[in-house]
Amino acid sequence: MTTDIANVTLPDGERIPKLGQGTWEMGERASQRAAEIAALREGIALGMTLIDTAEMYGQGSTESLVGEALAGVRDDVFLVSKVYPHNASRRGVQAACERSLKRLKTDRLDLYLLHWRGSEPLEETVAGFEALRQAGKIRHWGVSNFDLDDMEELAAVPHGDACATNQVLYNVARRGPEFDLLPWLKSRSIPAMAYSPVDHARLPKRSPLNEIAAAHGASVFQVALAWVLLQPDVFAIPKAGRAEHVRDNRRAAELQLTADDCAAIDAHFRPPLRKQPLEIL
Ligand code: NAP
Repeated sequence: MTTDIANVTLPDGERIPKLGQGTWEMGERASQRAAEIAALREGIALGMTLIDTAEMYGQGSTESLVGEALAGVRDDVFLVSKVYPHNASRRGVQAACERSLKRLKTDRLDLYLLHWRGSEPLEETVAGFEALRQAGKIRHWGVSNFDLDDMEELAAVPHGDACATNQVLYNVARRGPEFDLLPWLKSRSIPAMAYSPVDHARLPKRSPLNEIAAAHGASVFQVALAWVLLQPDVFAIPKAGRAEHVRDNRRAAELQLTADDCAAIDAHFRPPLRKQPLEIL
């Protein structure tokens, strides 16, 4: 690798890597476990030190796998987990965090997210997050799958302006957030965390990405990821259970898309001209 991975800046000024690693669907099959741990560790060694997980994934088995993968390298990692909406009461969020910490074999999360909006009042969830922060169990908190109206409601509750990020579905084929949500976040210095940055491996079989990939000697996945990484104030968490995919994703951070590449992408995957409700995977 010739260059370091670029950073994004959280609202409090802390800098975190623009390229991390997702973990959804890891830790669910015993036969894959060793390969998945090796993939995560290789990513950490390559500088993809932001790791995203959730209590939902594998009903806790993914967090357990991440805990195992972090043995000896925990302090090198910016660790993110998420709480289920049905656990997001003031007390529930604190109890769920304790369970996550135990599975992850650590004493703190770097970032704790509300996985999606449920029926608990946002005031309650934020109060729980703030109590965790005071206790040193989490360093930052944020949300996921919040559309603009949810973000506006959040900003209006006590301490709601302490939200560090919003993790949303965003990739070359899902550009709705560009119309309103990303500009709103940017205006408040809140970076967006792009989940499914290679569209959960469901990118179209034929598109300009194929020609661009061929021209760069890269794969369509790498081009799609490089495009997300090009977006300002956006960081990405591709999931790769295979080490060769991790290495490919790391190389995508080196890929220099040209203005012509981006124009071809815009002509096919058109930027939104009107509000689109936030998509969820
Ligand atoms: P993704 O990262 O867009 O795609 C993952 C799939 O793409 C896997 O099948 C993976 O294969 C494959 N892949 C990755 N890099 C590749 C490469 N370079 N070449 C070929 N194939 C490649 O989808 P995702 O897992 O849905 O999203 C990423 C992460 O975001 C999740 O793992 C999770 O942490 C988070 N997420 C959050 C939410 C939410 O509601 N907040 C929703 C979805 C996802 P292998 O695994 O076989 O390597």
